[in-house]
Amino acid sequence: MRSSYRGAVILSLVGIAVGGSVLSCVSFMAQPFPAQGDNGEVLPFDHSVTIARHAAQSLSEMQVDNTFAIAGGLLYSVEDECPDVYCPATLTRVGDITTFNTGDNIVTNDAQLNAIFTVDGDFKVVSFMVGVCGASSGDSSAVVIGCASTGGSVVIAYDAPPDVWAHEWGHVQGLSHRNDCARNIMHAYELETNAVNETERNAFLTPTPGSTFRQISAEPLFTEEALMGPVSGETAQECVTRCVARRYLSGIPADALTDMDTTARVDALLDVLATAPPAQACANIFRLLGIAGEARACTAIMDHLASFDGELTTDEFAAYAEGLLALGRLAMADDTGEALGFLTAGALGNDASTATLKLRTDTGATSPAGAALSRIAVMALGMSQHPDAIAFLEAMQADAATSKARDPWMASQVEEALARANGSFTRTRATQGLEIQP
Ligand SMILES: [Zn+2]
Repeated sequence: MRSSYRGAVILSLVGIAVGGSVLSCVSFMAQPFPAQGDNGEVLPFDHSVTIARHAAQSLSEMQVDNTFAIAGGLLYSVEDECPDVYCPATLTRVGDITTFNTGDNIVTNDAQLNAIFTVDGDFKVVSFMVGVCGASSGDSSAVVIGCASTGGSVVIAYDAPPDVWAHEWGHVQGLSHRNDCARNIMHAYELETNAVNETERNAFLTPTPGSTFRQISAEPLFTEEALMGPVSGETAQECVTRCVARRYLSGIPADALTDMDTTARVDALLDVLATAPPAQACANIFRLLGIAGEARACTAIMDHLASFDGELTTDEFAAYAEGLLALGRLAMADDTGEALGFLTAGALGNDASTATLKLRTDTGATSPAGAALSRIAVMALGMSQHPDAIAFLEAMQADAATSKARDPWMASQVEEALARANGSFTRTRATQGLEIQP
């Protein structure tokens, strides 16, 4: 639930420690209020946070400490591309990194994500996340690199850049998204950010609110940006190349490039795909091809996925995941039935080469990826809403014993895919009571 309060935000916070003293009762508070020095300047505030990582992930304490040092520097620095204020907030790791075995290192459904949120620790580190954290519709399902619960904690991909760690902590502190400038730390999808406004600074410079906290609406809350499209003198192919080269917080925006005619957009995306771009670009291209809805893209996507072999980097795994989701989006329009066939084979793990794929992260950890790819294929089948896909998923659901023997998380994957397909997923999620967003 996103609060749309302007002005006074009612905080039922009792006993907030500010600058060492305790305010016994705060009933109404317009904004968080940072401690101030003698000259009215805001005083630094350090958040001591604990880190837990999935046992299959090998992020080191040194890497976390480096990330936090850079994140603090981004908050502190004042730059001129976007309105920005000085924010002396820091994140400091306390204690050793602990490990957990809850959920999975490759998170593909909300049951896993919710399980990981219950693990003790302010930041929970995994290798990969896709289709989770607020994704209730087909368009919003994407690779995500961070997910936060307001007043709670963060689940984050090991390779999320420092500004994403700060962004997610901003959500924990109660902040919502602000898209009025591309370098805002609280931007909904941009990376390489470092700007905060005064409201956000105040939230970063105060203790973490309790679970009754409501989201702070910094004004202006949300300003729509122009759709990404060709800049002057740029060809369609150059425009696509530029937009897909970047990484995004939760997938390239679904409306990216939609000011280009659909046929021209699909042509340009396929042209760029044919130049064998880096895996990160392929992930973005697959996502936009799926959203464009033209089934002629299926063959190129399937050929690309079939070429993967052995150990995949995180970017290659992201491309594989987005490719499967794109086939799900296209399956209904694909008269040949090949996209559906590709996904059902993937869901069953029938393809021997797919079953042996592994995810190799930059930290050196390697995880078997076949089971996770089967779950992502199930997610894609649900997104297709194709009657044959629904019948297939219902048969999998009926045969839960078999799927559970192969993968303990398959049953919840099938359940969520069916809930998405029949439109009841948002209701299912609401009962779990977590207010989360990427
Ligand atoms: Zn966010």
